[in-house]
Amino acid sequence: MENEELNNHTETLRLVPAVDSLLRTKTAQKLVTTTGAKHLTILARAVTDGLRQEIQEKITSNSDENLDHTREGLLTEAEKRLEHAWHSEQNTSLQRVINATGVIIHTNLGRAPLSEAAKKAVLEEASGYCALEYNVETGKRGRRGARAEHLLAELTGAESALIVNNCAAATVLVLSSFAAGGEAILSRGEMVEIGGDFRVPDVMVQSNATLVEVGTTNRTRVSDYERAITENTRVILKVHPSNYRIIGFTATPTIAELAELAHRNDILLYEDAGSGAMFDLAKYGLAEEPIISRSIVAGADVVTFSGDKLLGGVQSGLIVGRRSVIETLRRHPLYRALRVDKLAYAALEATLEAYRRESVIEEIPVLKMLSQTTDQMRQRAEGFVARLHERLGEKPGLTIELARGYSVIGGGSAPATQPETVLISIKHSNQSAARLEQALRLSKPPVAARILEDKVLLDLRTVTESEEAELLEILVGD
Ligand SMILES: *Cc1c(COP(=O)(O)O)cnc(C)c1O
Repeated sequence: MENEELNNHTETLRLVPAVDSLLRTKTAQKLVTTTGAKHLTILARAVTDGLRQEIQEKITSNSDENLDHTREGLLTEAEKRLEHAWHSEQNTSLQRVINATGVIIHTNLGRAPLSEAAKKAVLEEASGYCALEYNVETGKRGRRGARAEHLLAELTGAESALIVNNCAAATVLVLSSFAAGGEAILSRGEMVEIGGDFRVPDVMVQSNATLVEVGTTNRTRVSDYERAITENTRVILKVHPSNYRIIGFTATPTIAELAELAHRNDILLYEDAGSGAMFDLAKYGLAEEPIISRSIVAGADVVTFSGDKLLGGVQSGLIVGRRSVIETLRRHPLYRALRVDKLAYAALEATLEAYRRESVIEEIPVLKMLSQTTDQMRQRAEGFVARLHERLGEKPGLTIELARGYSVIGGGSAPATQPETVLISIKHSNQSAARLEQALRLSKPPVAARILEDKVLLDLRTVTESEEAELLEILVGD
């Protein structure tokens, strides 16, 4: 074998393992049970092709390279690459992440985490056969979603409710049902883009409705709406400017004022509340989110909001309002295309039950995180850092400190509200914050953190108590 050690690249090319040899290695044998034989062959071919191409490129560029030129060396390299290719592919799959960013409704990390009861309902009640469209008392066909809809109506004080795939879908369904072929009036201060390409004017076009803009960016009055009403007006639309605030010289009519105007003219008042609060969250600094039950009392005919923002449930679009309005939506052909699956109903039912029990601050993760005081955050951070120091001992170059900072509501909700928190700041004298953050990101499970001024910042607000222990082990291990 020694004499096979060649410097000539062209010779080296012949020593690149064949796909079959690579597939016979221990590494491949170990991987095949998870990858499946066909897919492993595809990966192995990509690895050997890649190696061959690299060597060829080095021939043309005449460069020196650091590949081991023996047959064994190349085989070992190919095994390493095969394993890496598979791990890299697995990293693109859905996996649990420890969210140490302090962003509570983190869109990139799946928005609201489910409550324990919701997780249990999904797994134990809905993942197999379940009473989705089956009435266990009569043995006859039941209506899907009836329980979740009932809870939703009861909790918001609305006559009726309907659930679709997300709030964007809810908006399309309402406007397609009620504004198609006619006009919908919207204030210029509410021409919202939610992100992910959801823009109110585009939704109007999609719903075949003509958008009639009224007022100005900062001030719109009832009289502006009134002047815009024609015989083609179908809907007055009020959109909560979820992810931005216009402050200063501003004015916007109340729901009650708009309801009075709409009903006097026999048109529908629709509020897209976005995140929406099920009760007053002012005590947690969230004074500006529309409270769904108040909009209903004030006379909104239909209100839509998200199931996985402040409500703290699963991705869904929740629609509440007058019975006749909800029944029209239910009969629209789009509803069949936009409805949710049994897993979503199970998670929602369990989440809404917690609202009915009035135990949401203890049970619903989003609200639990939101309600933690700065003092509680300080206690948790101090305790964590003490344990970390104890485990790490003296580590030269590593500085772990507490720092004051702010958590973020996220999910395009309450941009002006930033709950005060106590951060854990980590700095290493000979490792950049970017490297530290990368190491955390590539740990199992991955940890998402913030970087500021070459420090890694961890906010325990969004880390559950059971994850704290895991996070500690990850930090000690690094
Ligand atoms: C977030 C939001 C939406 C979109 O909700 P999804 O559930 O993400 O589809 C629509 N309108 C408003 C005002 C929002 O804040």
